[in-house]
Amino acid sequence: MPAPPIQPDMTRHVSATISTAIITIRAEIAHLEQKYGRKSGSVELLAVSKTKPSALIRAAAAENQIAFGENYADEGAEKSLELKELNLLWHYIGHIQSNKTKLIASHYDWVQGVDRLKIAKRLNEHRGTGPGGTDNALNICIQLKLDAEESKSGCTTDELEELAGFIAGASHLSLRGLMAIPAPRSDFAEQRAVFKELHGWYQKLKKSYPTVDTLSMGMSGDMEAAIAEGATMVRIGTAVFGARERR
Ligand SMILES: *Cc1c(COP(=O)(O)O)cnc(C)c1O
Repeated sequence: MPAPPIQPDMTRHVSATISTAIITIRAEIAHLEQKYGRKSGSVELLAVSKTKPSALIRAAAAENQIAFGENYADEGAEKSLELKELNLLWHYIGHIQSNKTKLIASHYDWVQGVDRLKIAKRLNEHRGTGPGGTDNALNICIQLKLDAEESKSGCTTDELEELAGFIAGASHLSLRGLMAIPAPRSDFAEQRAVFKELHGWYQKLKKSYPTVDTLSMGMSGDMEAAIAEGATMVRIGTAVFGARERR
């Protein structure tokens, strides 16, 4: 028996799967907004496409998904060029190495993992000299960590004020809010407790800086707790694109 053709049937099948996943997650977000008394449409879906090929991003874009998250700087930059004509919004959500700040500042629309002054300064400098010119500020979320053992990345609550002040005053950056990646917890009440505390810091920041409108928290495993506690953006990979190969 001849082997079945891989193209284009395979592509069509995968596109249908992604289309269904996007529709399902949007419905789930809408349901959770209602369940927790959140305003309809107040939680944005960021589709985390790291490790996934451009063809799958196209399939998601066909469902009017605009915002995509990448956490390997070069890989995301390549995809943003490949898919330029779709006018998508690219969020860098990975750890930021200082030798990648130029690449990140010129290929992404948002950077969510900013956790130290040195990185913020470099992003500001590179954005100012980049192709977008001076009137195209890079949107920034500060990554905040609440307890030391959580992860290597993230600024502490003590460092938040100085970092926020710099970003808010930088000509080529726009301070949009906070992002967090709490350690995975399986207990719903514990998930909520951490997100609640993050929301408190978000509200404090919002009072000082009028450009702040984004609280990016919640992934495939803890989206409900994040929406319950006030997330305005959830970053979903697995539930949109399926499991990732390990790197
Ligand atoms: C991979 C990743 C996600 C998505 O995780 P899933 O569990 O696949 O939904 C969200 N945020 C960050 C920072 C990530 O690196």
